Amino acid sequence: MTKKIYEMDPYIKEIDAKIIKICDKEKYVILDKTIFFPEGGGQPFDTGYINDCKVLKVYEKENLIYHYVDKLPEKNDVKLKINWERRLDHMQQHCGEHIISGMVYKLFGGINRGFHMGNEIVTCDFDVFLNKDELNEIENECNRLISEGKQIYIKKLRNRETLSDYKIRKETLVEENIRLVEIEDVDCVACCGTHPTNIKDVMLIKILGAEKNKKYQRISFLCGFRAIRDYKEKHEVIKEINSLLSSETLSAKQRIETLKSQKDELVRKNIEMQKKLVSVYIKEIIEKYNTNSKINETFICYECSHLERDGMILLQNQFFKEGKGSLLLFNNNIFLCRTTNEIDLNRILRETIGDYNGKGGGKKDNIQAKFETSENCFKYIKLLSQKIKDIEEV
Ligand SMILES: [Zn+2]
Repeated sequence: MTKKIYEMDPYIKEIDAKIIKICDKEKYVILDKTIFFPEGGGQPFDTGYINDCKVLKVYEKENLIYHYVDKLPEKNDVKLKINWERRLDHMQQHCGEHIISGMVYKLFGGINRGFHMGNEIVTCDFDVFLNKDELNEIENECNRLISEGKQIYIKKLRNRETLSDYKIRKETLVEENIRLVEIEDVDCVACCGTHPTNIKDVMLIKILGAEKNKKYQRISFLCGFRAIRDYKEKHEVIKEINSLLSSETLSAKQRIETLKSQKDELVRKNIEMQKKLVSVYIKEIIEKYNTNSKINETFICYECSHLERDGMILLQNQFFKEGKGSLLLFNNNIFLCRTTNEIDLNRILRETIGDYNGKGGGKKDNIQAKFETSENCFKYIKLLSQKIKDIEEV
């Protein structure tokens, strides 16, 4: 059995220990005591060093703690050192999870049904759905408790006999040696993780958002230094946005709203312009390809400079209201081609586009494609035009 020093005092960063088992093949060591927390209760394992050997992974099995190392220590008497930055981060996120879960239970009766501590953010799934104001209340109340410096007590119960003396948030299935983590005024739950002795060490809780996740509401949040780092990063982003918008008199939000309405107006004007251009191009096509001002069944290849893809589709639709034959429209590195003739355009496209670094698709009578360069698009159009002409002349 390994003595779990991290359970008694989670602040010990270095300690001397003795190796009681070593495995050459799998490269792990078992010690008489350890400060390395193994994976458990949603909290990831600690890393660090045993002498100069890197601890890569730690896990617990039948009261023994296995330390997987990059190389094996040479002596049995060893010095353990944990990566304190990583451990403190885990303690802050894990304890923050207890504070939030306790508060959701206390104020809204919701139970935490899942907890995930990711490398970036932490999430909890609750069986209640909270609105923006309620989430705000949770965040405020949690931070108020942190500022008041509520104590955290660890209690060990030999069996379930005295468990009913405690108002625990969530049932536990553990039968013996139940470890309760009690946070003054807010929470009490069975947990194997490392927690600070006072919630002041959590420093700050920031709820990032909430979304529906199957039958639960998933709340994402950050605690401690993660929350402070996030604040710094976001503050820098806001500063950059302000400087990009030169928003001295107006706030960035107001400036963005103004820019958005200006953009919407430009999009609307652009659509109008494209429609006007389409009528100009249609006229040009009729003049160029048909002296009787009536479009006949010929192959037309036409460059639509200034028309975007949507404009070209509009032109196609206008053309085929009366026109027949094959119409290929292109601009820069994209083209659209549609036909009323018996030609399988899609088959030609599939068989030939690969040689021209293009991407495209469509149906038998209607295709479109995009190329990395306008040169490739032009070369491909030449090939496609020839193939269409060959088929039409048969
Ligand atoms: Zn826990």
